[in-house]
Amino acid sequence: MAGKDDKLTYEIARDLLPRLQGYLREQLSKLLGRLDVGENVEIEIIDLLSEHQSIRKWMQFLNINTNRERLFEGLGGKPSPSISSSDIWVCRRSDCNYTLPVIQAGESAPNCKFHDAITMILANQKKG
Ligand SMILES: [Zn+2]
Repeated sequence: MAGKDDKLTYEIARDLLPRLQGYLREQLSKLLGRLDVGENVEIEIIDLLSEHQSIRKWMQFLNINTNRERLFEGLGGKPSPSISSSDIWVCRRSDCNYTLPVIQAGESAPNCKFHDAITMILANQKKG
């Protein structure tokens, strides 16, 4: 289980890096540099990204345990929050599950990683 989460955390960190600015980008870039030389920086990445409200919400949607949950959640877990949200980008294609967090309100829609020419829409605009 831990291995799978590790991989997802690193994957989202790499996906998010180009979209971040300032402090978050700088810090995440450093952590990814440490990852590249073999360090385990998963917890630090999650803690860093958790500082951003909509990224934290998105990570919870992806079932990545943020710090608060690690500390306070008991056994069993809980259902992930609903995807019907104005904080999460989703692919327009109904067969695609790729999502990204909104980094800044009003930002232009990113493209889906798997469907290059397709701009993403907010989760609360996706039908069906
Ligand atoms: Zn897609």
